[in-house]
Amino acid sequence: MRHLDSERMQSSEPDGFEAGRPGDGAAGSGREPPRSMLEWTKEEMEQWCVASGFPPFHGPQILRWIHERLVTSFGEMTDLPTALRERLEGEEIISTGDVIREERAADSTRKLLIRYVDGQSVECVLIPEASRITACISTQVGCAVRCVFCASGLEGVKRNLTAGEIVEQVLALKRKLGPKEKITNLVFMGMGEPLHNVSNLLRSIEILRAPWGANLGARRITVSTSGPPGRIPRLTEAGVPVHLAVSLHAPYDDLRRKLIPGKTSPVADLIAESKEFFRKTGRRVTFEVALIDGLNCERDHARSMGKRLKGFPCLVNLIPMNPVEGVALRPPSTSAVLAYRKELESHGVEVAIRMRKGDKIAAACGQLRMRTDVARQGGG
Ligand code: SAH
Ligand code: SF4
Repeated sequence: MRHLDSERMQSSEPDGFEAGRPGDGAAGSGREPPRSMLEWTKEEMEQWCVASGFPPFHGPQILRWIHERLVTSFGEMTDLPTALRERLEGEEIISTGDVIREERAADSTRKLLIRYVDGQSVECVLIPEASRITACISTQVGCAVRCVFCASGLEGVKRNLTAGEIVEQVLALKRKLGPKEKITNLVFMGMGEPLHNVSNLLRSIEILRAPWGANLGARRITVSTSGPPGRIPRLTEAGVPVHLAVSLHAPYDDLRRKLIPGKTSPVADLIAESKEFFRKTGRRVTFEVALIDGLNCERDHARSMGKRLKGFPCLVNLIPMNPVEGVALRPPSTSAVLAYRKELESHGVEVAIRMRKGDKIAAACGQLRMRTDVARQGGG
């Protein structure tokens, strides 16, 4: 599929960061992960069929087997001509990863660890809540932003996921659903900074939105970002009406830099970019604030945040920090969280308090992988 590869403009190098930047883990990663059919659109599937001497209507059939019937081998696609199946088996791949670990929390949250063919692994989580089932998926192996409270960034970034590897997580989660269950929402809140991997992110969204793919409307898809410079405008330009969540965490730059060491836009720019996103897409932006005891939850912080966001029809999600193994930071008291909310509300800002689900299975991104790596290093 060389003709497609050139159009895809995909890269496994984390964009926005120079390869080999000390500590980001990208140096020398060199080898490209294989591309699977999971990242093909309907048009590409049809083109491939025609180029291989088969009628184009087999394209949608193959897509149905992959995205609806969730098969992992061409041999299972029993309504395809044998010659086509053999051709597919000889030339293409569907899956590039295996579920190597699964955990389930008392609240029904399920977490999978997926290892790709190059040995790198990421996490994805299924979160059932009332009438929704949300899939939380990763976009990178590790993360270069290295937020001080986050398990994903502890070792920097190893590489970007391909669009197929992103889609693969959704398929792996779908295989865990009961017969009447359906993924209703998708959040890019797993490992990695989605906007350091924009082209693969956008391609995966194209596939996940499509009626022949996961059939999730863009309105049910949330992209969460720490706001690397120039990246929210790039998402805005793409014109995909996803829901944007900006991880703000602090109302001013010096405090924000302490929490988020990686390069991100100044707070004033992030708010301006979010307003532009809202103007262009009509979609209300959410600001995420992870509250960490002794760092960012004083009344003054809440007051400054309220002043900055006043008059912008947004939502602030307050998330008491989920403790991370090896990180000596803690969530604040409930009264501090409630006081933060009250202060924001006094500025007319809408606020929700969110508890991260699945604590017992280390649902804060990056933790299951971290534990598995530690176990492996220790011979486990
Ligand atoms: N890199 C993106 C998306 C992945 S992180 C981003 O930062 O937005 C998804 C969300 O989880 C972010 O809002 C992040 O701040 C939050 N998060 C990460 N670790 C956390 C922890 N230990 N406790 C609470 N929230 C956490
Ligand atoms: Fe990366 Fe997001 Fe974790 Fe920060 S919170 S290290 S940006 S994954």
